[in-house]
Amino acid sequence: MISPKQFFTIVPNTINMNIRSELFYVNEFTFMVAVILSAQATDKKVNEVTPELFRIAPTPQKMLALGLDELKKHIRVISFFNNKAKNIIALAEKLADINTDNDNFIFPKKYHNRNELVKLPGVGQKTANVVMNVLWGAPMIGVDTHVFRLCHRYGWVGPAANTPDKVESELIKIIPKKYHAITNHVMVLFGRYTCTALRPKCEKCPLSALCDYNKGAK
Ligand code: SF4
Repeated sequence: MISPKQFFTIVPNTINMNIRSELFYVNEFTFMVAVILSAQATDKKVNEVTPELFRIAPTPQKMLALGLDELKKHIRVISFFNNKAKNIIALAEKLADINTDNDNFIFPKKYHNRNELVKLPGVGQKTANVVMNVLWGAPMIGVDTHVFRLCHRYGWVGPAANTPDKVESELIKIIPKKYHAITNHVMVLFGRYTCTALRPKCEKCPLSALCDYNKGAK
């Protein structure tokens, strides 16, 4: 079985750690919008629509000026676009008082706090974790589909950890603290390109010799 320590000693050396997220964004507001759009949608799909959307509406004020109906047109290929559009407009209303300089939206320090972020429309625990982790390097573990699958696959958590929140509580205990800030990033990229849901690429995996999951497949 692969231990968390072995995983985080080996895998970060095999991926590009400079890319903090594969979502396209131009400032902190657009990153939050991109993360909201990515719920139950792939980063690739989100990245198909966001360059044009963020060119027109990179700030809360400009998102409000775009308006709900136009926003829906931009994101209609993304799952649950109706709800997501409503949340993004509500989010923009909430943040509209924050000054921006040349479209460079930066969250005031009071938002560098999960309890504050989850009060924002459309921002759940996972979104807050990813935002804090990617934008500010906070040691939060955002549990998305890849993190969820991998830690079950490696036996790091048991069947009782059947929600992202429960998985996060377990991972915080078993992954050494020094790796928390990179946990989501490393596991997402490894899960997306190597240890994939279907047909994981075991033949070129750096963990192959340690992994029990692939024994049955050999
Ligand atoms: S050997 Fe296969 S199943 Fe095991 S970690 Fe690597 S890709 Fe995943």
